[in-house]
Amino acid sequence: KALTYQGPNNPPQLNDLPKPEVQNPTDAVIKLKFSTICGTDLHILKGDVPTIPAGRILGHEGVGTVASVGAGVTNFKEGDPVLISCISSCGTCEYCKRGMYSHCVTGGWSLGNKIDGTQAEFVRIPNAENSLYKVPAGVDEQALVMLSDIFPTGLECGVLNAKVSPGSTVAIVGAGPVGLAALITAQLYSPSTIVMIDPDENRLVVAKGLGATHTATPDKAADVVNGATEGKGCDAVLEAVGIPETFHQCQELVAPGGTIANVGVHGVKADLHLENLWDKNIAITTRLVDTTTTPMLLKLLAAKKLPAEKLITHRFKFADMLKAYDTFGKASQEKALKVLIEM
Ligand code: NAD
Ligand code: ZN
Ligand code: ZN
Repeated sequence: KALTYQGPNNPPQLNDLPKPEVQNPTDAVIKLKFSTICGTDLHILKGDVPTIPAGRILGHEGVGTVASVGAGVTNFKEGDPVLISCISSCGTCEYCKRGMYSHCVTGGWSLGNKIDGTQAEFVRIPNAENSLYKVPAGVDEQALVMLSDIFPTGLECGVLNAKVSPGSTVAIVGAGPVGLAALITAQLYSPSTIVMIDPDENRLVVAKGLGATHTATPDKAADVVNGATEGKGCDAVLEAVGIPETFHQCQELVAPGGTIANVGVHGVKADLHLENLWDKNIAITTRLVDTTTTPMLLKLLAAKKLPAEKLITHRFKFADMLKAYDTFGKASQEKALKVLIEM
């Protein structure tokens, strides 16, 4: 059973399909236990990723057990519990050697995009040795699903790119799952202030509970940031929405010498006020998630130092997958963050 894309603006379909098999010696086939839905899946359904053909199995996040491995896979065996990375990587090509797994010449964002994904009973994982992670003992496998994509994204594209450091001041624009994962991982670096900005009051309440020192709706963001930073602005400003307005707002919220880390996926162009940015010594960073921080995040989850489970608001059986999409698509009415799918 698998959920397949049916072309732009059509609902996805639950289909019975042949079970995936090992095709290459470096493949593994995983029996899924848990999966989830990403904001990117909603973009796909709207037709925003036109290279994805109808019939493609959706999904790039998941946790399961190894069902079979190719002859070249030596670090995993049948029955091993594993976390699936949203990025497939060989670990040996020129980009992988530089930690740029998202640019792997035989991988990158493959699942639910270039090949069939994880919203299915079984999935084939290419480059399995470097694209799967063994589950440490005692780890909550539901919380673990949050490490396939949103936690490495919030940490790598947001917190690390923005150089969040002890005592620094941080603003995070967008309190969706990615912005909240950035909020949680930013605290690993002990900033003095974290201002979360979102028009959705419910998400601001969640942000407060997860450690935000200040929250603000977009219209009050400048006042709150100025109030919290003696009018200087924030050293690290993370854009976790993906629209021109928020990228513009980040440029107003950043302090002299600060960094804007763009995390959001922008379908359109956004303005750069180069004169102001130059005058304030601002660095701007962007990147795709590489999931190179996954081993570190796994250790923190095992040590109960990463409250990833707090981002799961709804749980569905796989048979109710369409309802799960509906709930996730109406996130603000449904007060939904991540919806967990039990396969
Ligand atoms: P989401 O849609 O669930 O969350 C976005 C949040 O932004 C929502 O809470 C929404 O209320 C808020 N928002 C809307 N308008 C706003 C405004 N004017 N000011 C402040 N907040 C506003 O998305 P998500 O799943 O949390 O992902 C966030 C972004 O990260 C998306 O653009 C996604 O595509 C991107 N992403 C990037 C990577 C990467 O590799 N760089 C990986 C995964 C996701
Ligand atoms: Zn995703
Ligand atoms: Zn590679």
